[in-house]
Amino acid sequence: MKIFLIYGGKSAEHDISILTAYSIMKEVYYKYYEVVPVYITKEGAWLKGLTLDAPPTHLEALHLTAGEEAALAIKEGAVSTGVPITIAEIKEKDAVIFPVLHGPNGEDGTIQGLFEILDMPYVGAGVLASACGMDKIISKHLFTQAGLPQVPFIPIIKTDWLRDEEKVLAKCDEILDYPMFIKPANLGSSVGISKAMNQEELIAAIETALKYDRRVLVEQGVEAREVEVAVLGNDDVHTSVPGEIVKATNEFYDYQSKYLDNKVTMQIPALLPEEVQTQLREYAATAFKAIDGSGLTRCDFFVTDDHEIFINEVNTMPGFTEFSMYPLLWENTGLNYSDLVEELIQLAIKRFEEKQ
Ligand code: ATP
Ligand code: MG
Ligand code: MG
Ligand code: MG
Repeated sequence: MKIFLIYGGKSAEHDISILTAYSIMKEVYYKYYEVVPVYITKEGAWLKGLTLDAPPTHLEALHLTAGEEAALAIKEGAVSTGVPITIAEIKEKDAVIFPVLHGPNGEDGTIQGLFEILDMPYVGAGVLASACGMDKIISKHLFTQAGLPQVPFIPIIKTDWLRDEEKVLAKCDEILDYPMFIKPANLGSSVGISKAMNQEELIAAIETALKYDRRVLVEQGVEAREVEVAVLGNDDVHTSVPGEIVKATNEFYDYQSKYLDNKVTMQIPALLPEEVQTQLREYAATAFKAIDGSGLTRCDFFVTDDHEIFINEVNTMPGFTEFSMYPLLWENTGLNYSDLVEELIQLAIKRFEEKQ
């Protein structure tokens, strides 16, 4: 069977996606699948092959030297020659699409819509779940409906901000206390997110977030541990043990600490009482159903010292390198990386067949 592994993409999370693609390539290339890597450049061109353009720090993170990586790619004839691939070439019978794109245009339902039109099975969330999961404002509304606990927040539309800044600020002051977290509605990897300690910082943070999206949200900041649960399945939902992101300081988990500093460790399973772990897993399954998830989702929570739980967000295409939280959570729940990749492909086929 042929797998089209689609990675890269125009979003700010381009580089992370390349890392994930390398991990999956290493895993499935020597199996019974024929893998065709499809690289979407930052400019949006679709090229056939494995790019060698990854930043060196990213190769290091995967314990791959540029030489090794190039050798792997060349050996398999996968190295990017800059040959364009058209969407028509992807439409093949008995092929599965494995998109490992993060953020807008990859994780938000747009490319999933293309796969629906191609009428092919694809790994992960469908159009609706991708769109709802990516949009932090919409997902919060769905979580409220599903009875999931979350911190208070205020959605802001750019036009309203430009028309009456004072009114928006007054509302933030009325409902929220500092610190506040300000986020673009549709992004990931902490891009465009700031923490504000006072009104001056809040204004700057809203302006920053608005550079990335025309809708942003201001959230109540909480002092809490960060715990994540992996969800896998279609209509039958399975959850992993929770894992904690342990940060060296109590600063927030920003882009720098996520991918560059190596100051973050993962504690799997999270050191939490059994009943708190069970509650987190139930909430994760509920969140998955609330957005109509399929395939995979990583559900992020805040857990306070007295074990109060708030759901933060869901990621329908979480980081998926061998060293990422999502696969490590499954590894610790009894499913290794290789079997996980296989399971995701099978879930994609199953969902496609059920739809026919
Ligand atoms: P990703 O998709 O990579 O997980 P993201 O860009 O979708 O991240 P969030 O997970 O919402 O962003 O936030 C990024 C980080 O900012 C969190 O992991 C946490 O460290 C911090 N943070 C976000 N919201 C809050 C909050 N309300 N209170 C305290 N910290 C927060
Ligand atoms: Mg996210
Ligand atoms: Mg994300
Ligand atoms: Mg997150």
